[in-house]
Amino acid sequence: MLNRDDQIAHEMFQEIQSPDQPRQKVLDSPHLHRLQRMHFFLFDVLPIIGTVCAVVLLFFHPVSVVDITLFAVMWILTGLGVSVGYHRLFTHRSFKTTSVVRALFGIFGSMAGQGGVISWTAMHRRHHELGDQDGDLHSPNLHGSGLVGKLKGFVHAHFTWMVAHPYPNVVHYAPDLLKDPVIIWVNRHYYTWIVLGLLAPTLIGALVTQTWMGAVTGFLWGGMVRMFVVEQGIFSLNSLCHLIGRRRFVTDDQSTNISWLAPFIFGESWHHNHHAFPGSASFGLAWYRIDPGYWVICMLSLLGQAWDVKVPTREQISRREIRAS
Ligand SMILES: [Zn+2]
Ligand SMILES: [Zn+2]
Repeated sequence: MLNRDDQIAHEMFQEIQSPDQPRQKVLDSPHLHRLQRMHFFLFDVLPIIGTVCAVVLLFFHPVSVVDITLFAVMWILTGLGVSVGYHRLFTHRSFKTTSVVRALFGIFGSMAGQGGVISWTAMHRRHHELGDQDGDLHSPNLHGSGLVGKLKGFVHAHFTWMVAHPYPNVVHYAPDLLKDPVIIWVNRHYYTWIVLGLLAPTLIGALVTQTWMGAVTGFLWGGMVRMFVVEQGIFSLNSLCHLIGRRRFVTDDQSTNISWLAPFIFGESWHHNHHAFPGSASFGLAWYRIDPGYWVICMLSLLGQAWDVKVPTREQISRREIRAS
């Protein structure tokens, strides 16, 4: 039913859970931490090494139009997979769509290598539940005060939380996804989608250039560098968008908006707006704020492929605004 890592966590929950106790929300286990470290090395550390290799290779072999195109196409597909699919659709259910579109967003999101869709959703829902309080998996604000505390918090929120974090109970946090056969199918093949996302640019690079070098640079730019760039963008939400930037609404967390980041992460960096209105498909909350993820949802809606798109009214927005008294 679930992918291998989720299945192992799921079985552990079943083992420790007794029917007359309240449902356990998270599970900490050395075995799960071992799996997390392996995942971290394969899909977070290797893309960094791959990116360094791609940059060093530039001194011997100029980057080609094919490589740049592969990077751009894969960056947009997998970035939207995370922003529109994993985040706005599966976690927050801010719009509805067809099974085919759900599957495609799930597959492209999986290719980003940030975890299977069900566990990603469970972790992110827990983040919203406990924003910047004890139990938030990746808050940068729980590591002491002063510059040192903030720096420690930044490193934790951006990177090291992934090495050993409590695993959220998917039965508690994502029961809706566990009932969706499309999501179960996408989630079960999580590792297949990652491999496909690396294989596709490699093969296209080889076929278009008819060289082995084309395969290598296709893999590096369309696979490794692309994965690195999408990851750094999404990790910035956990770190920078809870540390620096502007606030506009009354919220229980310390989330912030960072406008200049918005074009690079599909509008996700209106993160404070998003914490204030988590169910909204729009993160910018106004037409003039760059929010490509929302523009894609609007386009799907125009094509009849998205409906019940949720956006707060002007009155709801102004009611939440911080006012200087
Ligand atoms: Zn947040
Ligand atoms: Zn969210």
